[in-house]
Amino acid sequence: MTRVTVWTEYRQERNDPAVAAVYPDGIHTIIAEGLRDADFDVRTATLDEPDHGLTDDVLAETDVLTWWGHVAHGEVDDVVVERVHSRVLDGMGLIVLHSGHHSKIFKRLMGTTCDLNWRESGDRERLWVVDPAHPIAESLGEGFTLDAEEMYGEHFDVPAPDRLVLISWFSGGEVFRSGCCYERGRGRIFYFRPGHETHPSYRHPGVRRVIANAVAWAAGPKGNAPERRDRPEAPEMESSGD
Ligand code: ZN
Repeated sequence: MTRVTVWTEYRQERNDPAVAAVYPDGIHTIIAEGLRDADFDVRTATLDEPDHGLTDDVLAETDVLTWWGHVAHGEVDDVVVERVHSRVLDGMGLIVLHSGHHSKIFKRLMGTTCDLNWRESGDRERLWVVDPAHPIAESLGEGFTLDAEEMYGEHFDVPAPDRLVLISWFSGGEVFRSGCCYERGRGRIFYFRPGHETHPSYRHPGVRRVIANAVAWAAGPKGNAPERRDRPEAPEMESSGD
């Protein structure tokens, strides 16, 4: 069974009544609930735990890590960022959610600012599937609508995705690349846009389906870790037999 660690800051849910009203037990609890319903083996970890809950042992037992952060990206210890980074290169999947676009780990993996335009206006958001052959699009049909969300608009300063699965349109008129796939080393990375802390998007069946599909897609590399050799002997080749 695929082992998932759901990581969030878990700060605004404790400090801001408007956020606590939507996610009284924390955003991580609701993301974890959706993934357990999809039959994944799920644990949670949050910023204020020792090592942010992301020790070497936890990461060694994690096939896919999901990441939600917003107001405290700078408090994430560089040692932990390095640990997560090397696990991704070694094959751990990473699902970066919403304002996680500005997390240290996502910016490190992308190598760009990951800046975007945003507006907390409760826009209606329509998510369109633009790659129906991709596993993350399974069971989504043409897409789905969120009645109220924060707007994220282009330009989103990320490298061109290896595969773009979803595009968002907002009632203000903006568009955004909202479901982006990347590979780094042997690790698969998916950025997924919805999930502002004052909207209940992580309870929405379409959002839950995307996250579950993304976890299944990102779980574990299929090939072995390559061996690195300096000046290896040329491999013996079979004779063609003539
Ligand atoms: Zn937000």
